[in-house]
Amino acid sequence: MPLNLGNSSNTSDPRHVKVLVLGSGPAGLSAALYAARAELEPLVLTGIELGGQAALTHTIENYPGFPDGVGGSELGELFQKQAERFGAKVEFDTANSVDLSARPFKVNGDGGEYLADTLIVGTGARPNHLEIPGEYELTGKGVSYCATCDGWFFKEKKVVVVGGGDSALEEGLFLTRFATSVTIIHRRDSLRAGKVLQNRAFGNPKINFIWSSVVTEVIGADKVTALKLKNIESGAESEFPTNGVFIFIGHTPNTQMFKGQLDMDEMGYINANHLMETSVPGVFVAGEVADSHFRQVITSAGMGAAAAIQATHFIEKETLNP
Ligand code: NAP
Repeated sequence: MPLNLGNSSNTSDPRHVKVLVLGSGPAGLSAALYAARAELEPLVLTGIELGGQAALTHTIENYPGFPDGVGGSELGELFQKQAERFGAKVEFDTANSVDLSARPFKVNGDGGEYLADTLIVGTGARPNHLEIPGEYELTGKGVSYCATCDGWFFKEKKVVVVGGGDSALEEGLFLTRFATSVTIIHRRDSLRAGKVLQNRAFGNPKINFIWSSVVTEVIGADKVTALKLKNIESGAESEFPTNGVFIFIGHTPNTQMFKGQLDMDEMGYINANHLMETSVPGVFVAGEVADSHFRQVITSAGMGAAAAIQATHFIEKETLNP
């Protein structure tokens, strides 16, 4: 449906925007920066986590331009400041449902309805849960999915990390700042994480490993006291005393509200081409919501920039050929 962009941003309705960005992680805020510099006055709905998952990372050491590393939340604030400098608006609201069947697209947030000529989806992903007894009940009482947020509470305590990927090792290494010991429990006998992190973890005297084992229950009344483990090779069951358990076993994309409206893969990641275009013209994606592979701040930021450039082309094309 062609738009008359001269009138499309209805000034009597400030919630009708040319570019609406969902999510305030590196993807969303980079998209906002590029759309703002194209003078499209983008509006960003932050979602629950301002700065996205990156803001929960203590130090980011692999984002170029920061040779000494940069705090995750600090980087998010810098992204936001830069986007706002060029006219992006950032609203603390979470989108709950969308209607992409006609344009302008409709997005319902906690703060009401938004209309958007183009939409950039950067809603990210959330940590997976083990789905075992005690996990839900003891979340916040020793069960955690964020070392940066909760590590401090485990000063001079024993903690467990579940998982064998980059996140498990990176967060496990971070936890050695506080805990007396960090035991990494992995379901296989070799790690998925990259070699640099593996070498750091193997060389850290506070870190030890339990291999080929899964956690089957989190034990504790009002706080975690132990985990029930099962060795998947021998079948042997045991109890492992601990004060806390940090779970890093991958992510699920935040795409529930797009089901049936945007094409997705079997894991729920939104399908997009190299131009960040989705199955609905005018809807673009960026970051982990469409990327289960790279999951880096720099790749998400790059996708955000690309999505905004394409949204700009899309709008320009319609302006020229209404
Ligand atoms: P991941 O690479 O998917 O690793 C998840 C880990 O959890 C795997 O070791 C997996 O075991 C284990 N796991 C999955 N389901 C499980 C279950 N139900 N019970 C027990 N264990 C389970 O996830 P990630 O570590 O979050 O990393 C995701 C991506 O982000 C990767 O591409 C990674 O390179 C990237 N990343 C990079 C950095 C960095 O460069 N500094 C930091 C963080 C993340 P299996 O190995 O047996 O499958």
